This record gives sequence, structure tokens and C-alpha cells, in this order.
Amino acid sequence: MNHLLIKNGTIIDGNGGEPIKNGAVLLKDNEIIAVGPESTMPDVEASEVIDADGGYILPGLIDTHVHLMFEQDGLASRLETPFSVQFYKAIHYMRKTLDAGITTIRDAGALDVGVKTAVEQGLIEGPRMQISVNALTITGGHGDNWMRSGFDLTRNSYPSMPDATCDGPDEVHLKVREMLRAGADVIKVHATGGVMSPTDHPEFTQFSQEELEIIVREAAYRRGVKVMAHAQGAEGIKNAVRAGIHSIEHGIYLDDEAIELMIEHGTYLVPTLLAPVAVLEQAEESDNIPIYAVEKARESVDAHHESVKKAYEAGVKIAMGTDAGVMPHGTNLRELSLMCDVGMTPMESIVATTKVAAECLGWGDRLGTLEEGKLADVVITKTDPLNDLRALEDTDNIMTVVKDGKVVKDLRNV
Ligand SMILES: [Zn+2]
Repeated sequence: MNHLLIKNGTIIDGNGGEPIKNGAVLLKDNEIIAVGPESTMPDVEASEVIDADGGYILPGLIDTHVHLMFEQDGLASRLETPFSVQFYKAIHYMRKTLDAGITTIRDAGALDVGVKTAVEQGLIEGPRMQISVNALTITGGHGDNWMRSGFDLTRNSYPSMPDATCDGPDEVHLKVREMLRAGADVIKVHATGGVMSPTDHPEFTQFSQEELEIIVREAAYRRGVKVMAHAQGAEGIKNAVRAGIHSIEHGIYLDDEAIELMIEHGTYLVPTLLAPVAVLEQAEESDNIPIYAVEKARESVDAHHESVKKAYEAGVKIAMGTDAGVMPHGTNLRELSLMCDVGMTPMESIVATTKVAAECLGWGDRLGTLEEGKLADVVITKTDPLNDLRALEDTDNIMTVVKDGKVVKDLRNV
């Protein structure tokens, strides 16, 4: 039996209450067995002791919307890069994600069950994950990258990545079943258009109400698999919420009725405020962002801010998600200060990245807070996130990361 004691830090447990000074956390293998002031720790011989050196001890952080299989490398690179290179790149992206203190993610599309299996088997290091495999899209929708030149850049299917384009009740039914067969833990659907796609617009409604209901029902038949919807325009968001979608991703053009519906249904909002900001930044620095995406990002960035602000003020449940892959992996924690820009307190941002994010994934019983009985994911930061949230954006301030009871990053001088 392995006991790991983390001591000499201030505990921010993810529940949103007062931090605990001179705190400690005791882990036994992959379980948290005690949390509190160091003086209250049970008297066991720890096989390993980590001195947090006056830092801050948090639960493993959670990003509920990432794409671990890509970054914005540009069109030429996509056309020229050999197929299997993407898997090697993903190893690097996962490392960056862990280095940012993120021990759990939900992948919002383009990651197959093989990558997840390789992490679970310990062949490569990466965050714990829920995967959606490929995101359902209509023909000509967000997710359909058929270009008007005639080239089709839709992430092509391969044995463990079923094609996800579907139109009409029968086809959406089949596609949900294919994603589940391919190992999807969650179904992702594009309910509206979006920014990074060539022939649609964020406000376009895509799947019909009937199609969305079929998707939600079919997923629910499999031990309650949940559905996450990329949804930016108000009508598409409302269709998704009425259909019983579990989380609305992006939510750029929420109106009052959409917000009311979300509260009524208990729907989560995953804001990804960083996504349009990062698109515009990268467009400044390189030619990797297509002009249609730049125009749509510019058009939506202010509306996005206002929309999330209204949702927050109305009390919609907000889970942290970034759309990492649209921005470089490892920069995920920039989202936290953007959430504060819409009015959330630093503590609320942290809770959205821990407790609420875990609940959004349906894993609230085993992740998201430092509490007895939960899985042993812990992060130690050098700086006080309640005092300076932006300091977390520098991954050198993420000192130590423990996932499943094992140290996966450690910058302390030991
Ligand atoms: Zn996304």
C-alpha cells in the first residue's frame, strides 16, 4: 500500500469554501483518504511526502471541451502531413495539457478510442478522458469541411473514426450507434454553424428538433450516455436544450428564452471564451487561420462575452471548457480570467474548473474536489490563484501534478 502525503500548503478544495491554511492531503494509491489541517492527518507512515512549500493545493483541473488531436497548423500542413503524425503530435499535446494541471478532459471530437486506450494502458501519458470520437454534423454544416474548390477536408474516416455526416432521422440514428460502437463516452453534435468551418455561420440552425431528440434518446438508451452540442445561434441552442442535450458548447448568441430554458432543464454551459480570442490572435501571427474563420470570430467575440455574462448572471451552470486545439494546448487556464471578465469571481472560476466540470462529465462522485473517497488527482500551484488567477497561465507556476495517485509533473527542487 502506497501512502503519499502532500503538506505545507493552502488547500482550495474545489467546493468554493474558505481555503485551509497549513493544509495537507493524504493519498492512498488512487484514493484521497484525508484532507484538512496538517495536524489532523491520520498517523500513517507515508512512503512519499511532497512539501508544497507554502503553495496552493487544488484538485486536478478539468477542461470539458478540448480537441487533443489537433492544433491550427494551417491548410498546407494538413494536406502535406503524413496521416499517422497526428498521433505522435497528440502525445505532445497531452503532455502540455497535464503540465497545465489538467488531469481530466472531455474530447469534443476527432480523437479515437485507441489514443484513450494507450493512455489507460500507460503507454503514453495523458489526462483521463471522455471521448466523443467524431462529432455529428449535417451536410454543409459545422464539421463538414467540404471546400468550395471541391476538395473535401473533412477529417476523413479511418477504422476507429467513423464518418459523422448525417441527414435525416434514420441517418442520425445510425451515426449515434456507430459512435457508440467506436467507443464514444459522450455524443457530440453540431446543432448550429460555427467559426472554423467554410460554408456555414454560427447563427445557422442545423439539425432539426426531431433529429436532436433522436440523438439524445438513442444515446440515453446506453446507460444514460449524454450529448454535448456545439450550439452558437439562439434557435439551435433552444432546439438542443428542448431535446434534452446535456451541455451547450460556446453559446455565443444566447437570448433570454434560451437562458430560461437552460435553467429549467439544468443544462450546462461550456463557454469556451478563449476560442474566438485565440483565433484572432493566431490570425495576427500566422496565415494558419482561414479568412472566413477570422471574419466570423471577429463578428462573434463581443456577442459571446455578453451572452456568457447574461447566462452567468441568470444562474446557468457553467463548466470550464476552452476548445483547446483551436488555441495551443497547454494554454487552457487563460479561460479562467476570461470567465472573471464576465463577472465570475476567481473562486467561481476555480469551482467551474473543478467541481462543476466534474459534475458536467457525470463524474462528480469521484472527481472535482479534494474530499475523502475521491480519485487522487491533485495540483500544487506556486502562486495564490485567488489573488492572481492569471499567474496560472504560466505553467511554471503549476508546480506539481498528481494524476491517479502518481506524480506526472514536478518542478520542485528536490
Ligand atoms: Zn470544439
